[in-house]
Amino acid sequence: MPRNCPRRPGRIILAVTTTFFCMVVFFNPAIATQLQWPDKRPVVVIDPGHGGADSGLSGLMGKLEKKAALDFSKTLAEVFKSKFKVVLTRDDDYNVDSDQRAGIANRKGGRVFFSIHAGTGKYPNRDSITIFVIKPDSFRQGGLCRRADSPALALWHRNQLKYLTASLRLAETLASEFERSLPESIKISIRQAPVLVLRGVKAPAVLVEIGFLLNGRKDKDLDNAALEHKLVQAWFEAVKIFLKHP
Ligand SMILES: [Zn+2]
Repeated sequence: MPRNCPRRPGRIILAVTTTFFCMVVFFNPAIATQLQWPDKRPVVVIDPGHGGADSGLSGLMGKLEKKAALDFSKTLAEVFKSKFKVVLTRDDDYNVDSDQRAGIANRKGGRVFFSIHAGTGKYPNRDSITIFVIKPDSFRQGGLCRRADSPALALWHRNQLKYLTASLRLAETLASEFERSLPESIKISIRQAPVLVLRGVKAPAVLVEIGFLLNGRKDKDLDNAALEHKLVQAWFEAVKIFLKHP
């Protein structure tokens, strides 16, 4: 006579409960997201300049710098997402204080920080891209640290000084990739200046003024969308090189 299998109601209940739990988790995106492994990829912070009441420059066709900077930042973020974790300091039309932008970068553990702008003056030079790095001298003159600042704030405003060498290297990496990919007629330069948004950032950080962002630019064989695509790809390569991410 065959032996009767012993009944194990406890095991059956456990199996049913486990199956039910797995189904709930895998079919509920909210729970699944919370249970995902943490994203260990390097964090790239992109800071779209201006926003809200601060429109920045106004383009020839009425386009505002705050919108141009946000649109370009989102395009950049979309490409970067394939290799990096991307944080935008703003993702809509609202203003963020320059120290808050740096604070977001620090809290999110940003490995690099890019502030996106269209340039200066009424008609930004469409044939130039300028990469700004913080200027250490400006701290001594009281330009970036006002007398009214508390000691803690004054110290916080010096965060970027520790990353000056790395920020210059980041600027050089960007410049060399831009020069390799963009038409020769676009002048790429690196400058140091008292840039407020960079002073609190605890990571290599630059502000990039893209002269053709607002008013566009037409080359003989390259329309503006193609030019922007080349710029974004060159930027992506530069970050991979800088962070040594294949
Ligand atoms: Zn600007």
